Amino acid sequence: MSIQQDNRFQAIISHAKEYGFVFPSSEIYDGLSAVYDYGPYGSELKKNIRDHWWKSMTQLHENIVGIDAAIFMHPTTWKASGHVDNFSDPMIDNRDSNKRYRVDHLLEAKADELKEKGQVKEADELLLSMDTLLAAEDFEGLKNLITEQKITCSVSGTTNWTDIRQFNLMFSTQLGSVAEEADTIYLRPETAQGIFVNFLNVQKTARMKVPFGIAQTGKAFRNEIVARQFIFRMREFEQMEMQFFVRPGTEGEWYRYWKEARLQWHLALGIPADKYRYHDHVKLAHYAKEACDIEYEFPIGFKEVEGIHSRSDFDLTQHQQYSKKKLQYFDTEINQNYVPYVIETSIGLDRMFLLVLSHAYEEETLTKEDGSSDSRVVMRIPAKLAPIKLAVLPLTKKDGLPEIARELINSCKPHFKCFFEEKDTIGKRYRRQDAIGTPFCVTIDHQTKEDGTVTIRHRDTMVQERIKMDEIKNLVLAQM
Ligand code: ATP
Repeated sequence: MSIQQDNRFQAIISHAKEYGFVFPSSEIYDGLSAVYDYGPYGSELKKNIRDHWWKSMTQLHENIVGIDAAIFMHPTTWKASGHVDNFSDPMIDNRDSNKRYRVDHLLEAKADELKEKGQVKEADELLLSMDTLLAAEDFEGLKNLITEQKITCSVSGTTNWTDIRQFNLMFSTQLGSVAEEADTIYLRPETAQGIFVNFLNVQKTARMKVPFGIAQTGKAFRNEIVARQFIFRMREFEQMEMQFFVRPGTEGEWYRYWKEARLQWHLALGIPADKYRYHDHVKLAHYAKEACDIEYEFPIGFKEVEGIHSRSDFDLTQHQQYSKKKLQYFDTEINQNYVPYVIETSIGLDRMFLLVLSHAYEEETLTKEDGSSDSRVVMRIPAKLAPIKLAVLPLTKKDGLPEIARELINSCKPHFKCFFEEKDTIGKRYRRQDAIGTPFCVTIDHQTKEDGTVTIRHRDTMVQERIKMDEIKNLVLAQM
């Protein structure tokens, strides 16, 4: 990461804390590593992203319904899904610092370093070798790659590495009151399994016909080893997943459909296309037919924000086998019973939140009319996701102006989130709203009393215009 990018990332983290978006968890006790809390504006933004995803999946697709499954699941779920045996990452320890690293992260960081030096071809070759070795689970080959590349530990600075080992990422806990009776259960590492085990419940009760999808948002937990990079990689995070069940043989076309549809969802938010790219997987899980990541150019480089996976009938077949319950669908169009194939779209809510912050954050230098310069931090959050949509600011605290402001807020607040503020100069109040990404500010002044017009100021352009107060609500609603 260049110093400039690093500075930008640090600036976003500080801004997120200062303006009530994200706080370190239990900060008064010095925080808990890779766990974060969302503040007043952060929780609004997070909820808006979740609602927007939920609406685009369930409301805009007649053949997708939602569920809300529990975090705790029967422990056999995780045997069947393969997580007990396989949900692990290859890790390597540095003997001098005792620091543990994920092997793919060490090699990816090296590739980034090479790219920064202009050695793009070498970087690409390194990533390709890594993907091939990971696919073959060739740990010796991976260790050789680390040695050849002279990769050092960031703490000790040495190349004194252990062998590579697998490390399971699931958190376990006990269910039951007495230790002897207690069963070991896991905190779910993904929301998807809650969908698979409910496949028949949902299909029957909502009378769904293949192809159809089941969507879910909720917490997931992973004991991540390399857990830095702010909310990019957390130990407790939230996922938004959708499993789309299709007739075997049609999975290729549905995979392509969702791969495209999901990228379009991102672009429709107004985030530039050149900030995105696909990364098609070379290393496929043994059951997977195709898989790709949608990557975004975060200040820490291009990284995965969402995965699209063609999972065959693996999950339902496994649960069928372990539960001894049939998880099949009778397709009346072809008069056949089958276990549907699945296309999964899986996006991290917190990672999407970081994406929105990364896209939105801008330090802007402004030239004033008298030639002097000024600056502002503006969060260009898409209006539909902004924590507050409209700030209403009476010019003074007297002459009935606050009362008019309240009137406007009362007519708007059933429809979207508003904010009232009467303290400080208008300029300062505008700056505070820019910093939390409020797309519209309205100022109520003495002219309002005479002709019912107000000044509306647009966050991104700072353009101000005078319009009728009773047009404000629809103007804001048009952006939702
Ligand atoms: P990575 O390679 O970054 O560990 P993954 O391939 O394991 O991610 P998936 O299992 O496909 O991720 O999970 C789907 C999505 O969930 C990811 O695209 C990401 O947005 C999000 N996600 C996964 N792990 C985390 C985490 N530790 N913190 C925040 N979000 C996460």
